Amino acid sequence: MSSVQYVMADIDINPHATIFYIGNEVAPEGYPLGLPQGQTGGKRWVSGSPAKKSGKGHRAKDYLDKFVKQKFPHGKTIECIVGGVSVCRPLDCTVADGLMLAGDAARVVDPLTGGGIYNAMFTGKLAAETAAACIAKGDTSKKALMAYDKAWRASPMGKTIERNYHIKEYMIKQSDEKMNAIIHSVSKLDLKEFSTLSLVKELLKANPKLLVELGTLAASLR
Ligand SMILES: Cc1cc2nc3c(=O)[nH]c(=O)nc-3n(C[C@H](O)[C@H](O)[C@H](O)COP(=O)(O)OP(=O)(O)OC[C@H]3O[C@@H](n4cnc5c(N)ncnc54)[C@H](O)[C@@H]3O)c2cc1C
Repeated sequence: MSSVQYVMADIDINPHATIFYIGNEVAPEGYPLGLPQGQTGGKRWVSGSPAKKSGKGHRAKDYLDKFVKQKFPHGKTIECIVGGVSVCRPLDCTVADGLMLAGDAARVVDPLTGGGIYNAMFTGKLAAETAAACIAKGDTSKKALMAYDKAWRASPMGKTIERNYHIKEYMIKQSDEKMNAIIHSVSKLDLKEFSTLSLVKELLKANPKLLVELGTLAASLR
C-alpha cells in the first residue's frame, strides 16, 4: 500500500486517543489513523491506498488531503512522510545462502494495522542471534539459516501476521454499511486491556454470523 503521514499542529482532538476512520470514501482498503505525538499536542495522521485504486485523485495523499481539509481546516502540517507498507503475506522464504531478510524486506508488517516497527526489531534481533550462532559454527548456508525463518514464523508475531492477514482480507471486502453495523455493535465496549485480538473477539461475540463468514480462521480466534 502507498502510505502518507502528516505530523500536524493546531488541531483540536483528544491527545489520549488513537482514532481510526474506516470506509471507502475516506480510504479504500485502508484507514486514516490519528496518533498522539509527544507532549507538544501534535498529532500524526496516516493514510493508505492500495495500488489498484491509485491514480490521480486516488493516491494516499489525495485521500489524506481531503480528510485533513474537512476535519482540520485550520491545522498545520509540519512534517510529511511517505512510503510503501506491505499488507500482503510475508515472503515464502526469508533466507538464502549467506543472506537473511528481516523487517519490511521480509514483509513482516502486520497486514491489518500496517505496524512494522516492532516486527522489524523482533526479526532483526532474531536474525542477528541466528547469524552469530551460524558464523560461530562456520556454516551460513541456507539450511543453517533456516532456523531463523522457522523461529519467527512459529513466534506469536508470525502467527499474528497470518491471522491478521485473513481478517484484513475479510474486512476489505465488506461494504461501509456492514462495517458500520459491525463497529456499532461494540461501540459501548469497555476493554480493560486493548489489543487487536480482544477487539476481534468482541466483534465475533456481538456478530456470531461473522464466525461462519470467517470460516476456518474463526477457530483460532476463540
Ligand atoms: C507513512 C508510514 C507510517 C508508518 N507508521 C507506522 C507506525 O505508526 N507504527 C509501526 O509500527 N509501523 C509504521 N510504519 C511501518 C514501519 O515504518 C516499517 O515497518 C518499519 O520502519 C520497517 O523497518 P525496517 O528496518 O525493516 O525498514 P526501514 O525502516 O525502511 O529501514 C531500512 C533502511 O535501509 C536503508 N537502505 C535502503 N537501501 C539501502 C542501501 N542500498 N544501502 C544502505 N541502506 C539502505 C533505508 O534508507 C532505511 O533507512 C509506517 C510506514 C509508513 C510508510
